[in-house]
Amino acid sequence: MRLTVLGCRAGMPADGQPSSGYLISASSTNLLLDCGPGVATALSAVAHPRELTAVVISHFHLDHCYDVLPIGRMLLADHIRAAGRGGTGPSAIPLYVPGGGRGVLDRLAALFPVGVLPTMSMAFELAFDVREYRAGDAFAVGECRVTMHGLEHAVPNCGSRVESPSGSIAYTGDTGVTDELRHLARDVDLFLAEATLAEFDHGSRGHLSAADAARAAAAGGARRLVLTHFTSTAPEWLRARRADAERIFAGPIDLAAPGSRHEVRP
Ligand SMILES: [Zn+2]
Repeated sequence: MRLTVLGCRAGMPADGQPSSGYLISASSTNLLLDCGPGVATALSAVAHPRELTAVVISHFHLDHCYDVLPIGRMLLADHIRAAGRGGTGPSAIPLYVPGGGRGVLDRLAALFPVGVLPTMSMAFELAFDVREYRAGDAFAVGECRVTMHGLEHAVPNCGSRVESPSGSIAYTGDTGVTDELRHLARDVDLFLAEATLAEFDHGSRGHLSAADAARAAAAGGARRLVLTHFTSTAPEWLRARRADAERIFAGPIDLAAPGSRHEVRP
């Protein structure tokens, strides 16, 4: 199993880095977790969207979902080519979104109709098979089993736990500190955790510090920790976040970077 970081920037893209997007590959399964601005471009450098088995969106903040429309349109090109040959396009790719997400996607697509080529307006009818999930849901994606864990954020956010015969990865999306994090991280091979803040959030922004992420990894018994969702590329800032985590979590710690690959073994 492998994690490929497509984007790891908190909020909007900056310094040449896309917002959140993570590709999990296990055997012939390719699962995209989150799809923020810049992720469509980054994905195109490593795979065609048609190679995706499914997409899972943690929450409907722009920096985690905006590029589903361009990716949908990249997929629709296959449908248009197939129709030109008198055939039907490829199967729709499952797109898992939080409850109520179907309406959000429909409104997004409706903003950009393509009058001369109506098929290009059907990203969420033809290219994707939109499926709304709830906290606690579990579903199969290729050889992986994905379980959604409700966490704490300004809007509903679910962490996803992805388990396969070749390893397991859990991803937080965006969240404040909550007991559910330890269940998300329970005995997982790789815990991919947001580390937005320099210090514990005493307000209600719904984000973790690197120390919070490390505490959750340690409490859950995760074997490795990868920190992500950074607000800076400054080396001294990143070193400080790693040091914060190392004081708490004894296992290996990596920092996500665009294009970084993290091999997982069970
Ligand atoms: Zn975010």
